[in-house]
Amino acid sequence: MPADGSGTGPRYPTAGTVQELADHLDHVRALIDAAARRSGRRPGEVALLPVSKPVTEDRIRLAVQAGCHRLGENKVQEAARKHDALADLAVEWSIIGHLQTNKTKDVVAFATEFHALDRLKVAEALDRRLQAAGRSLDVYVQVNTSGEDSKYGLPPGEALGFLRQLPRFTSLRIQGLMTLAVFSDDTERVRPCFVRLREVRDRAREIDPDLIGPGGLSMGMSGDFEVAVEEGATVVRVGQAIFGARPLPDSYYWPTDSAGGPPSPSRSGSSCVNRSDRP
Ligand SMILES: *Cc1c(COP(=O)(O)O)cnc(C)c1O
Repeated sequence: MPADGSGTGPRYPTAGTVQELADHLDHVRALIDAAARRSGRRPGEVALLPVSKPVTEDRIRLAVQAGCHRLGENKVQEAARKHDALADLAVEWSIIGHLQTNKTKDVVAFATEFHALDRLKVAEALDRRLQAAGRSLDVYVQVNTSGEDSKYGLPPGEALGFLRQLPRFTSLRIQGLMTLAVFSDDTERVRPCFVRLREVRDRAREIDPDLIGPGGLSMGMSGDFEVAVEEGATVVRVGQAIFGARPLPDSYYWPTDSAGGPPSPSRSGSSCVNRSDRP
């Protein structure tokens, strides 16, 4: 689990003013830039997507003043509500969490990006509604690089086949791949997940560069974004390190199997970690 500030003091202090938010943004940006440089990359290659999922609308207003103009939200309904309440601000919204087909309408209504495409039914529903609305949507295909049943996304071995099905959905603009690494403070367990995503991307490029668009990699969160940048992230999705520790447990955002998580086909052989190593 990512540290949430409990136990050893505030790992992610809450930012309550424009200045504090700006400081946290600067700090995260500086860490991204340093990680890029030490891995021989240009800092400009890595975008920061601030994630505002537990953050109230008044605090989002402060964040916009502090310089956030793109925001990521995990739940469509919550994002739609915030979008409406903040319609006077110039903000672009990215949906970064699992989507049900019956919510695709909401995404098409206001989002500019969707980071968690992992089912053809969703691609189809999005495309149909986008065509009707006369617009397109930037999407990332989510890959389950940790092999954990509690995470959504395609097994790495199925990503290529999935990408091959997407060109017929002409309003979806494929930007690349997205993943959530295993939640662990142990870098050596986290890193292989990011490496795995990069390898899937590289393999797709090798076979047919058109499959993967610009070949972006949406990976890295508060607890692991520096490792993700070292391994090739082009966009990191960071919430707590900017806004402060989340009050709700992670299980609220990422359902576990018992709380109705994703179906879990056998993913043996596809994990970036040995399943038996996990607690
Ligand atoms: C919440 C969330 C993040 C950001 O996590 P933090 O720990 O707040 O940085 C990134 N990606 C997804 C899909 C999320 O739901």
